Amino acid sequence: MTTAAPILSCENVTVAFDGFKAVNGMDLKLMPGELRFLIGPNGAGKTTMLDVICGKVKPSAGVLRFMEDVDISRKKEYEIAELGIGRKFQAPSIFVGLTVYENLELSMSQNRGVWATLRATISKTDHMRIMRQLDMIGLTHRAHVAAGGLSHGEKQWLEIGMMLMQEPTLLLLDEPVAGMTDTETEKTGELLQEITKQRTVVVVEHDMEFVRSYATKVTVMHEGKLLKEGTMLEVQSDAVVSEVYLGH
Ligand code: ADP
Repeated sequence: MTTAAPILSCENVTVAFDGFKAVNGMDLKLMPGELRFLIGPNGAGKTTMLDVICGKVKPSAGVLRFMEDVDISRKKEYEIAELGIGRKFQAPSIFVGLTVYENLELSMSQNRGVWATLRATISKTDHMRIMRQLDMIGLTHRAHVAAGGLSHGEKQWLEIGMMLMQEPTLLLLDEPVAGMTDTETEKTGELLQEITKQRTVVVVEHDMEFVRSYATKVTVMHEGKLLKEGTMLEVQSDAVVSEVYLGH
């Protein structure tokens, strides 16, 4: 019998800033197709963990392996992106003066020369890909609206769509539902579930209601370390987690 291999395996990872260990011997294993939530109090090291996975910061100790055991610990950020790890930060980075459709078109073609792409005639295959992506992020009816005119939630979905155009295997999202209305939050949860049919997603999240609704597995960090891992129920009923984090 073969058991599935993890898509990402972080072992004993430490990230130090001037001697201060923001991440301190952290272990994290992700299986393909997981929607994993990374939670913990402010300063626990969650964002730094995403930073070290995408190569924005380098580990001072430990090893990170992606896919077929590729050691990404020392790789540059763009090399890691090319291998298939996409990172979305809290603030959306979209081109506000371009339409939603054009934003997706650009993100599909980053290695073809950005502006040349917009001037060129788009192939039918590429057009169909964009239309499918618009449908997935629920923005078909907004395709020809300037991205600057979108609501906060729509901007976040557009950016997620732009990342998906690059076909990442692993998607890292930092607080995707911050500032969203309840309806937008629910749509985002459904979108994440849809994405994980094909990809693996890690979400750093503070909105516990959102985590409760969509998490199958939760990783709790505290002081740069793994505190607890399990279902939301297991995590919530853990006395130490309650003490350091949930506050009740
Ligand atoms: P979280 O996302 O869980 O709130 P962070 O990963 O943002 O935590 O931060 C963990 C700790 O590391 C915090 O104490 C933070 O101040 C510190 N930290 C994060 N980035 C840097 C940096 N570039 N330089 C110095 N300290 C940092």
